[in-house]
Amino acid sequence: MKDQAPQATPQTVYLKDYTPFGWTVEDVHLTFRLAPEATRVLASIHFAPNPAAPAQDFFLHGEELTLIRAAIDGVEVAPQMVDGGLKVAVPAGPFLWECEVEIAPVRNTALEGLYMSNGMYCTQCEAEGFRKITYYPDRPDVMSVFTVRIEGAEPVKLSNGNPGASGEGFAEWHDPWPKPAYLFALVAGELVNFPGKFVTRSGRDVDLNIWVRPGDEGKCSFGMQALKDSMKWDEDVYGREYDLDVFNIVAVDDFNMGAMENKGLNIFNSSCVLASRETSTDANFERIEAIIAHEYFHNWTGNRITCRDWFQLCLKEGLTVYRDSQFTSDLRSAPVKRISDVIDLRARQFPEDQGPLSHPVRPESFQEINNFYTATVYEKGAEVIGMLKLLVGDEAYYKALDLYFDRHDGDAATIEDWLKVFEDATGRDLSQFKLWYSQSGTPRVKVSETFVNGTYSLTFTQHSPDTPNQSGKAPQVIPIAVGLLNPNGDEVLPTTVLELDQAEQTFEFGGFAAKPTSSILRGFSAPVVLERDTSPQEKAFLLAHDTDSFNRWEANRDLARECLVSMILDGTGPDTAWLDGLEAVLRDETLDPAYRALMMGGPGAAELAQILHERGHTPDPEAIYDAGESLAQFKAERWVDLLPRLAAEAQVTEAYAPNAEQSGKRALGGAVLSLLSRLDGGAAAKAQYDAADNMTLQLSALVQLVKAGKGDAVLAAFYDQWRHDRLVMDKWFGLQISALPPAEAVERADALTRHADFTMTNPNRFRATLGALSGYHAAFHRKDGAGYRLLTDKLIALDDLNPQTTARMCSVFQTWKRYDAARQALVREQLERIKAKPKLSRDTDEMVSRILGV
Ligand code: ZN
Repeated sequence: MKDQAPQATPQTVYLKDYTPFGWTVEDVHLTFRLAPEATRVLASIHFAPNPAAPAQDFFLHGEELTLIRAAIDGVEVAPQMVDGGLKVAVPAGPFLWECEVEIAPVRNTALEGLYMSNGMYCTQCEAEGFRKITYYPDRPDVMSVFTVRIEGAEPVKLSNGNPGASGEGFAEWHDPWPKPAYLFALVAGELVNFPGKFVTRSGRDVDLNIWVRPGDEGKCSFGMQALKDSMKWDEDVYGREYDLDVFNIVAVDDFNMGAMENKGLNIFNSSCVLASRETSTDANFERIEAIIAHEYFHNWTGNRITCRDWFQLCLKEGLTVYRDSQFTSDLRSAPVKRISDVIDLRARQFPEDQGPLSHPVRPESFQEINNFYTATVYEKGAEVIGMLKLLVGDEAYYKALDLYFDRHDGDAATIEDWLKVFEDATGRDLSQFKLWYSQSGTPRVKVSETFVNGTYSLTFTQHSPDTPNQSGKAPQVIPIAVGLLNPNGDEVLPTTVLELDQAEQTFEFGGFAAKPTSSILRGFSAPVVLERDTSPQEKAFLLAHDTDSFNRWEANRDLARECLVSMILDGTGPDTAWLDGLEAVLRDETLDPAYRALMMGGPGAAELAQILHERGHTPDPEAIYDAGESLAQFKAERWVDLLPRLAAEAQVTEAYAPNAEQSGKRALGGAVLSLLSRLDGGAAAKAQYDAADNMTLQLSALVQLVKAGKGDAVLAAFYDQWRHDRLVMDKWFGLQISALPPAEAVERADALTRHADFTMTNPNRFRATLGALSGYHAAFHRKDGAGYRLLTDKLIALDDLNPQTTARMCSVFQTWKRYDAARQALVREQLERIKAKPKLSRDTDEMVSRILGV
């Protein structure tokens, strides 16, 4: 019997409909006979009735499988092929299911299930990819012990858990930890390993390996150190030890996302693990360190304790992002990490939460779960953990976490389980706090102040705007960290956490001789928009004196924002009072260069567009771009004396190391170079380019040369130097789009999609090119719609190959309703063009429908 399972048709799944699977899986044995066009997968699975589940038909998920043979207790059966899988009559008691299917990894361009990348076999199963490997109850609450046999001529054959027998043409693996199918992984190919060792605190020896294509061995040492640091950190801070004899990481070139936490066999996008001084920037190094930590930390928050269903995704992702940000703060600079995270949150999560794609941290329905690996689930999910920690205090937080690991180890858990642990550990009622998981949208907090007879009062009101499918929201629990400064700039009230839990609330602070200045939402203690009428003088005061490094940076950002907004709306010149205050900060050599580099940045074009929209104006991308350019030009000219001094400070004399200290200096140097290059026609950039011995300096110089109109020869030289290195070539593709003037960027992007090294099948290359275009505000929103059209052409072509990446990239259209009627019409035309594509994937269909609001 040979049958192609039909592709599942779009269907909405609801959290409220959760029902346990009718059987438990006692064990799983899989045999893979690898062949690019026709891999055979043999499964032997023991099922037993699940007494906790209601009666139901026996249904196994399966997609794009060719069924060769199926048997129950040794007797061949003919299952009924249904939408998204199969059904078959089964015995009342336990039984053995045996099944053989055929799949074609070489033709799998969706990069989900078993696929090939440069001749290497690899898998990606989260969230629902295992059903493309064999028929299975592919849901995270079905957990089992897997034994895997891989047959093939490939020299390296890996799966989860610990290695078992191996010999000519085969290798076996056994994973003793029960796991859901989404954590299954297999890799086979010609790989070389970069080895390492870790001894856990209880004395267990763990073999570590980073597996790469021959030639990439020299790019593994940084990742290996990051892995060891992560293992040690999780023991020290959370008391969590590793639990297998081996931990393998594999680098894969073709990968939809950053990396995947498969048990004992993490698979990484090569851009998120391979690093070297010559080929990676400081930002790359930091990101790699964080992602290695993130995937490693999932071993406890995700794998040992997993999710009951995909609605609970933030249970593992929000917590693990929170943990990796703690790790980075500990290893590097906590203030710099916090500011960078908030920049990222505002750039990615705020637009999502304030537009047509807005959804709660724990969504209540979806069509395609891949579309819910979002900034809201990940980054806002992490903010929710941070608020919880701030509310209960550090000690109670770690006590609750211990209880969580004790109580739920081995479970597929829920947000209710998570909050219950905190309630039990602290005695606190978290029912109102739970609204952070169910109410979508960014709360707005307004604050006003009075000062009467020595008493200073702050009155807060909170309001959550309506979002798709949600209106009339209730007040949430919002921790607001506040500090007060006296007129001399001394702190008279150290950071204190106020708990907002009503629509309006007043807090009083007594005994002041003079009216203090307040620093509110210190450390960005809650993911809200703070609305406050503060005079520029007060902001300047905070910029000069705030003891909270986040709010000091925030005061500067507010001033930069107001300056740009008036330049855009009124055509006024830059605010020189602000620039003088900023200059004083930049001249303060006691401040971390990385922090000062952050001070030199301002709100980006997309953020300005959002702010203008909120204030009732229609953002004009050209005017926003022009204001940014003239502010930068003005700074450069005003700071002719300051810039060389900062450039000198930014020099690194020691041998290159991607640590926080050196990276901070180079970040400051990069910010300075971008201003200097406006004055010297690119002379300093050319000198830096020629002398560079690392990618950070080489790339920042190249960007400035392109901006200065002197890029052509250097771009060609850079290409010749790096054409053999895919990851560096991704940078080459992206930078020449984002560094060109908006009028030229769309044509350049178009030309690059026809370059011999462009390919639709590699998500990194696609994102480097089309992502550079869609991230370039003035170019993407070009008046004639050329940016929208080019991206749409490519998305329509990509949808047949890779629905997941296509759908993710559609989200750049989510802000379309902010713009003028003409641009809205142009975007609508493109979105409708995507909608009308024959055989549109359910991933992309769902995204475009939500963005259109249909
Ligand atoms: Zn994760």
